[in-house]
Order: sequence, then C-alpha cells, then structure tokens
Amino acid sequence: MFRDGVRKSIWQEEIRKFPSKIHTDPLYDVAIVGGGITGISTAMRLRKAGKKCIILEASNIGFGTTGGTTAHLNNFFDTTYAEAIKDFGLDNAILLKNVGIEALHIIKNNIHEFDIDCDFEMKTGYLFALDEKQEKKLADIIEGSSKVGHRIDSINDIPFPIPFKAAAIIPDQAQFHPVKYIKKLTEAFIAAGGAFIEKCLCESHEEFDDMVRLHTSKGIINATHVIYATHIPPGINQLHFMNAPYRSYAIAFTLKGDSYPKDLGYDLVDPYHYYRIQEIDGKNLLIAGGEDHKTGHSDDTGVCFSRLENYVRQYFDVGTAQYSWSSQYYEPVDGLPYIGVLPGSKGRIYTATGFRGNGMIFGTITSQILSDLIVKGSNKYEQLFSPGRIKPIAGFSTFVQEQATVVFDFIKDKLLTEKITSLSEIKDGEAKVIRYEGESYALYKEKGGSLHMVKSTCPHAKCEVRWNSAEITWDCPCHGSRFNVNGKLLTGPAVKDLQRIES
Ligand SMILES: Cc1cc2nc3c(=O)[nH]c(=O)nc-3n(C[C@H](O)[C@H](O)[C@H](O)COP(=O)(O)OP(=O)(O)OC[C@H]3O[C@@H](n4cnc5c(N)ncnc54)[C@H](O)[C@@H]3O)c2cc1C
Repeated sequence: MFRDGVRKSIWQEEIRKFPSKIHTDPLYDVAIVGGGITGISTAMRLRKAGKKCIILEASNIGFGTTGGTTAHLNNFFDTTYAEAIKDFGLDNAILLKNVGIEALHIIKNNIHEFDIDCDFEMKTGYLFALDEKQEKKLADIIEGSSKVGHRIDSINDIPFPIPFKAAAIIPDQAQFHPVKYIKKLTEAFIAAGGAFIEKCLCESHEEFDDMVRLHTSKGIINATHVIYATHIPPGINQLHFMNAPYRSYAIAFTLKGDSYPKDLGYDLVDPYHYYRIQEIDGKNLLIAGGEDHKTGHSDDTGVCFSRLENYVRQYFDVGTAQYSWSSQYYEPVDGLPYIGVLPGSKGRIYTATGFRGNGMIFGTITSQILSDLIVKGSNKYEQLFSPGRIKPIAGFSTFVQEQATVVFDFIKDKLLTEKITSLSEIKDGEAKVIRYEGESYALYKEKGGSLHMVKSTCPHAKCEVRWNSAEITWDCPCHGSRFNVNGKLLTGPAVKDLQRIES
C-alpha cells in the first residue's frame, strides 16, 4: 500500500521508495517529520540554507494527503478574502493574498532550479454559481477579492458544460502532478546531502533547552529543531481541538469525444465540486472532486463515489471512471492554517496544519515560514498563521458545536455498539463495531471469509473508530487517525496501532 487507503489515486503510479539508510549523525540541525509536500518543500529550503536536515517518514513519500490530492494551485482559498477581511482585517487579508502569489513563485522556482518535470501548467480558474444563494456568495467573493487587490472578474460564459446563474474568471492559476514534484524534490534534497528515512514512525519527543530527542520506530534521532509536517501533529495537542478532519472524494474519468475542459472549475455548492484535467499515458482524464464530509460521519463512504459520479454524468459525456480515491484534510476553527511553533513547545518544535483544501499552497509557504523562523528568527506571515493565536470569531461557536457532536457520537457509539453472540453472525464483506463481554471490537470479514478483529478504541484520545467502506479502513471521527483492517496505523495523530485480536 503506497497511500493511506486501498483505492489507487491518479498520482500513485509515480511514488517511488527510497533506499533505506541508517543515519548515525549524533545531532541534526532540523529533523522534519513527514514526507508530503510540506515536509519535503521545507526540508529542501532548510538544506539550501545550509542546515543539516533529516526527513523521517512513517511510510513513503506521498503516503498521506499529498498522494490523494487533486493539486490545483490557487491564489484564492476555501476561506474567501471577504471572510478573511471580516475575521482578520484588511491588512491580514492582503497578506493572505500575497501567500498565494509567493507560494506559486516558490513552486515555479523549485521546478526551474531542480529541473522538475511535473506536468506544471498555468491555468485560468472559473467560479460558477448554480443558484441564487450561490450567486450572492459569488458577489461577496468578487467584492472581497477586489478589496485585497486579487484579480477576479464577472463573465457571461464558462468552458464547462454546466448550467450556471453567474460566473467569474480568475487568471494566473496553475496545476501540476504532486507526486512527480515531491519525488524530484526529494531526490534533489538527498543529492544536496539531506538524509531521508522511510518507514520511520516518530512516536514521541523530549524537548530540552538546546535540542529535541525524537523517539522513532528506527531509534532515537536528536535535532536542534523538529518540524511536524505530518498534516496534523502527533500526540495530544490543543491543535487537535482547533482542527476537524474531513474526507473528500475524487474520480478521474475518460470523456467520450475530446470535449475536455482545459481549465480549472469550481461551483459554489456546499460542499463544492472541483474540476481539472490530467494527462496520463498520453490520454486526458477529467478529475472531478467533492462530496466532502466530516471523517467518520458517513454511514456508507462508498456511496459518496456513486453520488459524485452521478452528479458529473449529468453534465459531462462520461466514458469510464479510471481512478477513484478519497483523502483527508483539516478544517481550522477560524479558517486559516496554523504554521509555527507547536503549542506547548519551548520553541524548538514547529508544525503546520489546518490547510483546508489549499495545502499545495499552504504546504509550500510553510517552507518559507518555518525556514525563516529557524534560520532568521522571524517571518512576515508568522503572526497571521501563529498556532498560538486565539481568534474569537463568529465561526468559533459553530465549530465548538461540531466538536460537541463528535463527543455526543462518541458516547452514543459506546452505548449503542451492537451485541452479537457469535462471530458467524458477521456476513462476508461486512464491517461492524460490536460489544462483547464489556469490550468493543471492530470486525471486518473479507469477501471470501477471513475475519479481521481489532479493539475499536482509538489509542489517541479513546474515541470509537468508524468504518470507511470506500478505503477499507477504520477512521476515528474525533481527530482523524486512521487504521487498516488489521489495526495498523495509517494516519495520525495516533502513533500506535489498534490492538489486534487473533480470531
Ligand atoms: C481530495 C483532496 C483534494 C485536495 N485538493 C487540493 C488542491 O487541489 N489544491 C490544494 O492546494 N490542496 C488540496 N488539498 C489539500 C492538500 O492536498 C493537503 O493539504 C496537502 O497534501 C497536505 O500535505 P502535507 O505534506 O502537509 O501532509 P501529507 O501529504 O498528509 O503528508 C504527511 C506525511 O507525514 C507522515 N506522517 C504522519 N505522522 C507521522 C509520524 N508520526 N512519523 C512519521 N511520519 C508521519 C505521513 O505518512 C505522510 O506521508 C486536497 C485535499 C484532499 C483531501
């Protein structure tokens, strides 16, 4: 498995494993945990600044959301400029606009400097409103954008076969192949003297006045600074209560004929649908995404794919679905990512999380922010994205309510898990959380008969896992940890497996 689910993403073919090496350096300048776009971009930047760096990845590059993204490179975000002005003020919203522009420059510079062939293309973006409510939303987006100086213009036509009420055009967007990009960046990092270890799970850390000791599945690593580029930091941290995990679904289709829309498209449905094309083996595919929901909050995740496919088939002359996959992102409580010193750290441990659906850009800008903080001691975006900020904004109470739902569901799970008298009651292909002699277990029976049985309590914060039929995984609705059917940890913040029961 090269990704944190059983379905194959369109990018996965390009993932390569790097030869395992034992690194015995007594002290690195920076240990970067996580081999997604955030970790690899940041490691490369620090290496260029002369820092002795090591990347520690629990599985392989692209194993996390970077291998399951759709890789639109946008300079507008899920948090609109209008929302950013309202919650953070005009000056900060202008800073946010600059992030989009600068991150795209960083990506272009890396492509140029390291000669990366990653299907990078500049594109035009189109936003379209399908009903009156969305029309109002679009008008707010256009107004907010003009206040921060971000170019977006109303138009009367879009290059997508979708009926719409109002639309806008956004120049200077882009797209690329995320795994080709991080693979080449990793090769360049290693060629520049960086150290990289795969299959190395970081389990805990001890922070001292002058260094940090990481306890990993491959032994102890010491570093002056540590960066958790793990999408959400491992262990228990206040950031877990300020970010909620969500799943999003993507399908890559062939279309009958050659009517592929060449640009990037987004409707304003909640949750929204997003479109782009990608060439694989000389053939275009239309990638459509959407159907987002809170992790663990869908009774049948497989149905999300049918809904997405049916939706797309209404408008496009679809041939076949070549790839379909889902992946996870984090929604921050106040709409902006958290990039900087890990709350609770003495100042030597950093993290980056809460990227919503814009992590190609926020993961890239993380490379600038965290390398500046480590090398120079400050960065212009430091305050805006500080994980220590407290923003009592309007969305805060909704978020708290949402988190309360999670806790309620968690209690309900504890009370309502099914009681069974014999394992033979589980049918082929079925997954259930059951209660037996005072303990709850998660059971999955493969078609063909093998039974997989694990304790159902997530080792991170003791919530009960939920079945994800789309990816054949057990997902924790509270903070997003995910496990395979044998309980093996796929994604943190947990750092331990679910306990396996031999059946
Ligand atoms: C379906 C979908 C579509 C998206 N589309 C877009 C888009 O079009 N544009 C955009 O900008 N963003 C998009 N996003 C968001 C974006 O893909 C993510 O924000 C981004 O990939 C996160 O990158 P990352 O490097 O921070 O995390 P990840 O890619 O998840 O990498 C984290 C890595 O850390 C490793 N790790 C975790 N814990 C440990 C540990 N304890 N020890 C060692 N290693 C560990 C994991 O194995 C993983 O490889 C999308 C997200 C989804 C879900």
